[in-house]
Formats: sequence, C-alpha cells, structure tokens
Amino acid sequence: MSTEYTATVKVVVPQLVHCVSCDFKSVYEQTVTGRHTVETGLLTGDASAQAAAEQGARDYLMARLNDPELCNAIPCRNCYRYQPYMCKLVAQSRYNTVGCMFGYLPIVLGILVALVFGVMTLFMKDERLVSGITAGGGLVAVMVGWLVLRRIKRFVAAYDPNEHDFGKRKALAEQRALAPHVYDEMQTASLCDAYNERVSAQQSRPWAATAPQQSRPWAKDAAPDDPTELIVTWYAEPATFSTGGAVSIRLSATMHVTVLIPDTATPGDEFPVRADTPNVQPFKVRLLPIRVHPEEQRLD
Ligand SMILES: [Zn+2]
Repeated sequence: MSTEYTATVKVVVPQLVHCVSCDFKSVYEQTVTGRHTVETGLLTGDASAQAAAEQGARDYLMARLNDPELCNAIPCRNCYRYQPYMCKLVAQSRYNTVGCMFGYLPIVLGILVALVFGVMTLFMKDERLVSGITAGGGLVAVMVGWLVLRRIKRFVAAYDPNEHDFGKRKALAEQRALAPHVYDEMQTASLCDAYNERVSAQQSRPWAATAPQQSRPWAKDAAPDDPTELIVTWYAEPATFSTGGAVSIRLSATMHVTVLIPDTATPGDEFPVRADTPNVQPFKVRLLPIRVHPEEQRLD
C-alpha cells in the first residue's frame, strides 16, 4: 500500500504600496505557500517520497516568489482605495464562483456528454437518434458556458471595486496595511526578541550558546556559519539599495544600534551593527528589499 506525503512551506513577505490616489505609502505582509504531495511507490520509499515532497513544495514556493506580479489586493491605509493592478484581482474573486458554476462546469460536462454520446451514435444503431440528441445537448452546454465566461470577462473588466464596499475596504486596510514606520516598529520588536533570546541563552548556557530562531517566519533563513552568531533579517525599501542609508534600531531604553548601508548594497548582504550605546552584543543584519509590484515602479 502506498503512503502519501504532503509537505507545506510558508513564508511571509512584505509588499510596499505607493498609492496612486493619495501618494501615501503603506506596507502589508503576504503569506506565500508552497505545497506538494508525493506517493510512495515501487521505486520511492518513505524517506525519498518525503524528501521529494519537501523539495517540490520549496520549488513551488520559489516559483511563486519569482513571479514579480505576486500580490494581494489590499486597499491603501490612508484613502482605502485599491491600486489599479489590484482591481482585476478583486473583480475576479467576486465573479469566481459564478464563473465556475455557470461557465467552466457546463463546458467540462458538455464536452464529456458530447464525447460519450457521440461515440455511442457510432456503435449503437438502435439508439442513434437519442444519443445524437444528447450529444447535441452537450455541445449546446459547451456553447452556453463559453458565452457565460465571455460575459463574465466583460463584467470583470467593467467592475471598479473602488466604487463599492467602502466599509469593507476600510476594515481590510486597517487590518492588513501599515504605515512604513509602524512596519519598522514591528520588525524592531521581532529583532529585539531574537536578540534577547540569544543573550539570555548565552547567559544561561555560556558553554553551548546557540543562535535562536526569530519569532517571525521570514527570518528563519538566517543560518550563520558560526552558530553563536546572530543574523537577523531586515526589510528595507528598495530605494535603499541605490541610495544607501542608515537604520536606527532601539533594542531597549538604554541600548541602541545603527546599521550603515552603503549605496552599493545588494539584496541578501549582511552588515554588522554599530553599537551606539555600551553593553550591546555584536550581531549582523541581513538586508532584503520590501517587494514592489512592477506597476508601482514609476517616477516620483
Ligand atoms: Zn491612498
């Protein structure tokens, strides 16, 4: 008997939105999932099926992350309007169920009926008329489904979600979108957790200090060569990679560090922090860009 292995991997990535309506910048977090199932078989044992499922899930996740247009439809935090490239997503999800029920379903069933009864007309001479009429009915269903899909496509193009559901848009924006400085506060809190965890681990077990995982999943890729070295991920606006800059991080009321970023920085570079106050243990920050949809890239 074969066993089925399903692996799931998830990352949370930040997305930057620069509103075309009110010029406000906001950041929302998108969870991206990769899932893959592999069955054991004659040549695939438990271990290799599990490994193949995990590899497949990672590959699928990477393919999704490499899609530059990957995004959620999240309204602006300030004016609660969707960006133009998000409108189609909202409209499509609105008509999805109708499209499946009255478009794709009749097409698939219609093709099946037309094929089965079409073949029957060839071989069952006595029931040729009934089979032929039924096969014709299948073709009509395909036609109707196709017309419904065409009509839905027009509805999707004409639907402007910014004209509807103000309350829903406001609630979604307030739940998901953050002003950039609030997002940085969240990153700081996560970084402080990782830092404090590492410091207390070293104090309680100085002979076997290990680097703790950060509490946020996007930071779990930090795998330093030296296991006692702490490397935390920091997401910065993409412009930082061409202009350079400095990130100030307050670890506590009395501890403060700065990350100096040169204008030659590339995604994934690691920078040691500069301690601005005494008693700060050294650590590094891995710099990654906040994702930006291609249609956001415009001249300011
Ligand atoms: Zn706006």
